[in-house]
Amino acid sequence: MKLVLIGCPGAGKGTQAKVLSEHFHLAHISTGDLLRDQVKSGTPLGLKLKTIMESGGLVSDEIVSQLLRQRIAEDDCKNGYILDGYPRNVSQAEGLDDIVGSLDKVVLIEVPDEAIIERMSGRRSCPVCGAMYHVKNNPPKTEGVCDKCGGGLVARSDDNPETVKHRLDVFHSQTAPVIDYYDKKGLVLKIDGTKDIDVISGELIEILEKL
Ligand code: AMP
Repeated sequence: MKLVLIGCPGAGKGTQAKVLSEHFHLAHISTGDLLRDQVKSGTPLGLKLKTIMESGGLVSDEIVSQLLRQRIAEDDCKNGYILDGYPRNVSQAEGLDDIVGSLDKVVLIEVPDEAIIERMSGRRSCPVCGAMYHVKNNPPKTEGVCDKCGGGLVARSDDNPETVKHRLDVFHSQTAPVIDYYDKKGLVLKIDGTKDIDVISGELIEILEKL
């Protein structure tokens, strides 16, 4: 199965991708994570990416598409994969047709903008194992400590309110047209992203199991 998850920043794409990838044994490919790995490597390319990502803008299509092609060629993608954060504009969507051929579904997780800023300011993640938390909606058992591996939780540098607002603008101007692109192909499945995490996962699993 090949899925794309679309939603504005903070809609819950990463959280749902994790659940779905475990349930359906699919690779979870987050282009944001692939880019953050490059930033961590400290190379000149990584430094350039860091500046773009901290501003909330989009990295060039060439760089992201190349990272995606390399990732999809890895062994764990043979059974299928979930793309989280790609495509972000129509040109990437057109490029994706060449990279993957046909998709099974494009899941759109809908959350109104007003809910996003509050949601993202409380978002925390574990830099060691990648687990995600929210200080109010999904807190760890001990404040600031990952339940799974004991790592110290951190906020993403692009989750501050000003950058989030810019990322939402980028979503509406560049990524929203991708929804129309896939709607015309009859691939879009819309999900209410304001519901509880488990409820959303349950609904998605039920629908996707019937594909
Ligand atoms: P994310 O973790 O998906 O919210 O992505 C974090 C940041 O990485 C975004 O704000 C962009 O700067 C960059 N990024 C992630 N995916 C893409 C993409 N498909 N195209 C361009 N930039 C991307």
